[in-house]
Amino acid sequence: MADLNGTGWALAKRPVGMPKMDDFKKVDITAPAPKEGEIQVRNSWMSVDPYMRGRMYDRESYVPPFQIGEVLTGTAVGRVTASGHPDYSEGDLVTSMAGWRDVWTGKPEELMVNKIPDTGLPDSALLGVAGMPGLTAYAGLLKVAELKEGDTVFVSGAAGAVGSTVVQIAKIKNCTVIGSAGGEEKCKLLKEIGADHVIDYKAHTDYESLLGALKKAAPKGIDVYFDNVGGDHLEAAIECARPMARFAECGMISQYNATEPQPGPRNIIQVVGKQLSLKGFIVSTYADMQPQFLKDMAAWIKNGDMKFEETVMEGIETAPEAFLGLFQGRNTGKMLVKLA
Ligand code: NDP
Repeated sequence: MADLNGTGWALAKRPVGMPKMDDFKKVDITAPAPKEGEIQVRNSWMSVDPYMRGRMYDRESYVPPFQIGEVLTGTAVGRVTASGHPDYSEGDLVTSMAGWRDVWTGKPEELMVNKIPDTGLPDSALLGVAGMPGLTAYAGLLKVAELKEGDTVFVSGAAGAVGSTVVQIAKIKNCTVIGSAGGEEKCKLLKEIGADHVIDYKAHTDYESLLGALKKAAPKGIDVYFDNVGGDHLEAAIECARPMARFAECGMISQYNATEPQPGPRNIIQVVGKQLSLKGFIVSTYADMQPQFLKDMAAWIKNGDMKFEETVMEGIETAPEAFLGLFQGRNTGKMLVKLA
């Protein structure tokens, strides 16, 4: 058993507003030969996700903040290269929270390691459609928004990892789907994966224009809003909501880099008269849905009902650039970093 040398990324300083390359610092790392109870892993893929921006602030949240100078964490998939743990052997495929690096050694219990049986899916899918973003779409739509057949569903960030899965699950459940994304190419993809109506929000730069586009797409209103972006999209969704509509508040990426608190939707009073349900959620709360999710997702991928796009950056060197790309709309489907 030999030591492995590799590379990781740490925060050099806390970003202010939109993160920049010099907020990150590259560090050399060594993954030593594992001691008893440890495994040594070479990651093949790592994920960058919008929630990581929240962990770059020094504030209390549902996950603790990243510390300056410490290697960042996030989901990754890789193979065990050596094991001192009775439940793991060389060659096992594992997902873990030891991302932002290409090699690591540690205790599986401390790094949320899961040993993955052969699913027939590509390894990268374990970080996207069949991983955390996929479960977010599944739980958010089916449990949080209590989706019903025939609903009219509006989803923002619809060409991303979570959004594109939401579009397709809603179609599988025979709903009418309106997806919003930035740019013609992404809107074309939304049509291809089954969205009934698409809104290129970058062609509707003011609120009234966005609202007009949503009203046109849903003249009778919406039953469900799956919110990935917040801001004007949320306000337009409230305006177009039918009585008793349900909102799954999944994320508000339009505000993640704001340096000042952002105003709420001006029409929030409609929540009362229309008896709307706005429910925020964190995917880990719905971990018990994982077995059924994986079963359904594997079947949908197999029968062609679920397609998935990936935007792949090559090499650990590109990790910060991939992360910044999330806030520039550079990804279609899941943003991933392919490691050696
Ligand atoms: P995506 O794959 O959707 O990537 C981010 C996308 O957001 C970009 O490609 C871009 O698409 C869009 N975007 C970026 N900035 C803005 C902006 N200012 N206004 C509107 N759209 C913007 O990421 P995920 O699918 O991983 O995440 C989607 C959302 O779900 C995020 O808000 C994330 O925080 C949330 N999330 C929540 C979870 C939970 O447990 N609640 C778990 C996982 C994700 P475009 O080109 O269309 O603008």
